[in-house]
Amino acid sequence: MALCNFPKLEMRKVIILNFPTHGCINSLLGTVSELVNRGEKVIYYCTEEFRNKIEQTGAEFRPYHGLLNEFIIKDYDIFRLLKFQIEMTVDKLEYNLDAIRKEDPDYIIHDSLCVWGKQIATILKLPAVNLMHSFPIVSSSELITFYNIPVLLKVGLYKFMDFIGKNSLKRELRKKFHINLALGDTFINREGLNIVYSSRHIAPSSAQKMDDFYFVGPSLFFKSEQSDFPFEQLEGRKVIYISLGTMHNDNPLFYKKCISAFAGKEYLIVMSIGLATNPQKFNDAPKNFIIRQSVPQQMLLEKVDLLVTHAGMNSVNEAIYNGVPMLLLPHQFEQKLISQRVSEMGMGKVLSIKKITAAKLYEKAEDLVSNPKYKKQALKYKSMFVEDEKTSHIKATDKIFNYISEQDK
Ligand code: UDP
Repeated sequence: MALCNFPKLEMRKVIILNFPTHGCINSLLGTVSELVNRGEKVIYYCTEEFRNKIEQTGAEFRPYHGLLNEFIIKDYDIFRLLKFQIEMTVDKLEYNLDAIRKEDPDYIIHDSLCVWGKQIATILKLPAVNLMHSFPIVSSSELITFYNIPVLLKVGLYKFMDFIGKNSLKRELRKKFHINLALGDTFINREGLNIVYSSRHIAPSSAQKMDDFYFVGPSLFFKSEQSDFPFEQLEGRKVIYISLGTMHNDNPLFYKKCISAFAGKEYLIVMSIGLATNPQKFNDAPKNFIIRQSVPQQMLLEKVDLLVTHAGMNSVNEAIYNGVPMLLLPHQFEQKLISQRVSEMGMGKVLSIKKITAAKLYEKAEDLVSNPKYKKQALKYKSMFVEDEKTSHIKATDKIFNYISEQDK
């Protein structure tokens, strides 16, 4: 492949490598579709579960080869997450590197959690772009809070274990692929160009100052549809929608607390419990509940008064886009930063998922729905988000084209 010689208007071949979760994929799809529209040959590697979503962009789907194709978080543990990231990287390099080399791409696009994306680009000496569905968190001073101390201690311990050479998987990466994986690469996978799918206004101040991160605004290309969702039941009701996203949703205890909090109350509660939780457990749910394993979230957010959320970036972007106040129950690092910002901007309140009680849940939700100041703030940011969303995929694609052309010179 002659990187320096191809004519500028000729179609280039790009390989997209994605960490296999809805959260990591959803924001990228608008840009992928734009790349296809502009004539790039786009080959998208991911797991079978996401084939349908990806093919809607016009990209050519390729299933990852390998043994580790599902990412499930049982309880959020930084050790397990880091270990899993490295296991997944060894697996993906082992089984996909040769196939990708044979594709002979001109450049690589990966998301920020996709360690093997950055490493494959490095090994093949290809230019690469990092697409981020959430804010950059590495080197963020906002992380040093009392709340985060246990996690920071664990990260320190991890670094120490690494230093004394206890991490055999990392040794394997070094030996087989000559990769020295930095801790930052397990979270962020920074490249020369890093595109963030949210607004700079809502980013934590440390992220706002990082000038190699380009904020294009939210990108809400993929709208899941469900023809059997009973939207008519929402009419004329105050509606609270509860979802812990797609990675942290295996939490029956939390759902039971929600039932205790809102049973028989004036609100209609829509609860998305995720594929890991058996809906039959809730067969005797109160009449004011609609409980589903998955709901058409973006369509639903057009009609609800409050989102109770784990503060995943996609869900928060989607809520702001629809002017919906939020009760935030963050689970991981960046979700805590996102929650902090949403609360500072007056669009929501934060509660600890570990300490939450049914009474607290009701009290906070009640305030968020009935006090108009939250809705007013949410509407203020909605107009900015709606405007930004119209062009986020175009801005991202322009940036990618300029950056890749620069690398070719
Ligand atoms: N989602 C959905 N239906 C559901 C639950 C979630 O369509 O019942 C979508 C939601 O619209 C969002 C994504 O799944 O785009 C979740 O991403 P987020 O970043 O909020 O959280 P994650 O799942 O990565 O923790």
